[in-house]
Amino acid sequence: MTDRNQQLFDRAAQVIPGGVNSPVRAFRAVGGTPRFVQRAQGAYFWDANGQKYIDYIGSWGPMILGHGHPAVLEAVQKAALDGFSFGAPTEREIELAEEILKHVPSMEMVRLVSSGTEAGMSALRLARGATGRSKIIKFEGCYHGHADALLVKAGSGLATFGNPTSAGVPPEVVQHTLVLEYNNVEQLEEAFKLHGKELACVMIEPIAGNMNFVRASVPFMKRCRELCTEHGALFVFDEVMTGFRVALGSAQSVYAQLIPGFQPDLTVLGKVIGGGMPLAAFGGPREIMRQLAPTGPVYQAGTLSGNPVATACGLATLREIAKPGFWDALSSKTQSLVDGLKGAAAKAGVPFAADCQGGMFGFFLLPELPQNYAKVMTSDSPKFNKLFHGLLDRGVYIAPALYEAGFVSAAHSEADIAATVQAASEVFATL
Ligand SMILES: *Cc1c(COP(=O)(O)O)cnc(C)c1O
Repeated sequence: MTDRNQQLFDRAAQVIPGGVNSPVRAFRAVGGTPRFVQRAQGAYFWDANGQKYIDYIGSWGPMILGHGHPAVLEAVQKAALDGFSFGAPTEREIELAEEILKHVPSMEMVRLVSSGTEAGMSALRLARGATGRSKIIKFEGCYHGHADALLVKAGSGLATFGNPTSAGVPPEVVQHTLVLEYNNVEQLEEAFKLHGKELACVMIEPIAGNMNFVRASVPFMKRCRELCTEHGALFVFDEVMTGFRVALGSAQSVYAQLIPGFQPDLTVLGKVIGGGMPLAAFGGPREIMRQLAPTGPVYQAGTLSGNPVATACGLATLREIAKPGFWDALSSKTQSLVDGLKGAAAKAGVPFAADCQGGMFGFFLLPELPQNYAKVMTSDSPKFNKLFHGLLDRGVYIAPALYEAGFVSAAHSEADIAATVQAASEVFATL
């Protein structure tokens, strides 16, 4: 049989660097031929050979309803008939903004943009503009998009390729970026002691999904909040992955249950809020957001920002996931996947630790959950690659890298999960 995936990959490599438009798609870490997707429906997609897969990537998070949800399709089709882009405001942008703010009370205003990278970069500029300071703290293994100043020890795609930073980023551009260990309270306190007065913000993935799945501990999160408040720095939650994915109120609602009164200052969103279309956002208190142009001195703009088709897609998605019972059903499905995988690994005697929240999960071929990037890196990479290909051969598509979280959608059935656990049992037995 001719392998259409291989043919397409060879052809792609002639015209697109590495044959892909985003590095982790290339299967460099795990080896083999990337699957070219022909179409997707519900919890599945089909590759160029017509092979069907249960999809646990869901476009790296956005497809929380599964592919081709009827309400979303209808909204997108209707919007497309009315025009693709105007460069003038629309009512739907207000509706989407209102829908987002309704569920994330730390945000009083929101600006819509087109990608998580753009949102993170803009939030950083706003934090610097609003505080009049330059220095920022980020944490090793957290990815905030590929803006220059944030491209330091950034996990996932970069971790896979062993590029802690990127070529093309001058040292002067990252000289204000302090990189600290995730979940390390002492380092954090030391950094504030030395630089507290010059810090514009601390940026964090509250549940880090770009080093697989690592939660910020409650004491660490609490200390971040206290130190930011004490020193007049902004606490920026990058919820591009976790936003509307781990809970309707996003990861900040999870921490607010554990730390009374907890709120970040700024929030960065993407992925789910676009429902699979290029849409992202950042927001926070009114007084800070008013610093943005045209009301304030911090410049930020976008030709396709608030795009009418993308906002229709995002709005329809958010309205579905706000329906009663949605989160209980999604969470229990994710939990049953994680429990099933843990059971299968235990039976085969494979060291395995896993965690999940809402529709997001992560697992490690390690005896216990790691708390930081260095620990994540000790996970058994050759074993993971065997697991990845074993699952792929059995029609289960998980992220092609050790450093990535996984995603369950509302379209995954208990039968899909049982089939996944069965496939994993077979592969675990060979590890
Ligand atoms: C995906 C992601 C980004 C970047 O979003 P893009 O839309 O890919 O630019 C930023 N931060 C986090 C936490 C992400 O997961």
